[in-house]
Amino acid sequence: MRRKIVAGNWKMNTTVAEGVQLAKELVEGLAEVPADVNLIIAPPFTHLAPVAEIISGSAIALSAQNCADEPKGAFTGEVSAAMLAGIGCTYTILGHSERRQYYGETSEKLVKKIRLALENGLSPIFCVGEKLEERNAGRHFEVVGAQVADVLFQLSELEASKVVIAYEPVWAIGTGVTATSAQAEEIHAFIRGIIAGQFGEEFAERVSILYGGSCKPSNAKELFACPDIDGGLIGGAALKAADFLAIAKSY
Ligand code: PEP
Repeated sequence: MRRKIVAGNWKMNTTVAEGVQLAKELVEGLAEVPADVNLIIAPPFTHLAPVAEIISGSAIALSAQNCADEPKGAFTGEVSAAMLAGIGCTYTILGHSERRQYYGETSEKLVKKIRLALENGLSPIFCVGEKLEERNAGRHFEVVGAQVADVLFQLSELEASKVVIAYEPVWAIGTGVTATSAQAEEIHAFIRGIIAGQFGEEFAERVSILYGGSCKPSNAKELFACPDIDGGLIGGAALKAADFLAIAKSY
């Protein structure tokens, strides 16, 4: 059985006070979410400690949105995996397309980040996904395949077994354009297939692969019903407790 996951990426949104309020609303609404759906929230770094207190003792897990590619030292402005683990994070998103696009995140850096996350007990939520021009050129399998191979396949089987994958087509992120369930299932099945080729069928059957990109209450049910989609990484709709809970409930 694969873990069902609904994770909320708050990006650079909300003040600390707003984030704390959002976390409180999620804790209050948690009873409506099926017990087998793992809820994760990824607030900005500044919100992690106060949000950790609010969700403490609840079934909501805390994630960061990134971590440093070095363990410690003279790296001004960076936040290490150990620091995140120390304030209660159990996950970190890594390789989000916004980090790849705006902050030069490379596969080499991502391998380092994933290893540091794992060494500190954090489960990475590793993001992959093609750009619009790559899909239009029919290169989405090639692009996503390379992203998976350049990072996941550089890890040992034990390391890779702790990674959650998020397929997020860049053209669907924040655009309101969602991949159809057929488009999403097709590439999720492809990702699972290449993972099976590298680590074996049994291993691939256990990997959770989330869909991300304009997922909302109105389309979540259909996406989550696909055999190779194991939940969602939610951006915009994670900023409203009612929408995020509705997405989780629709599973
Ligand atoms: C994301 O950026 O991870 C994301 C899925 O965003 P949105 O849901 O807003 O498209």
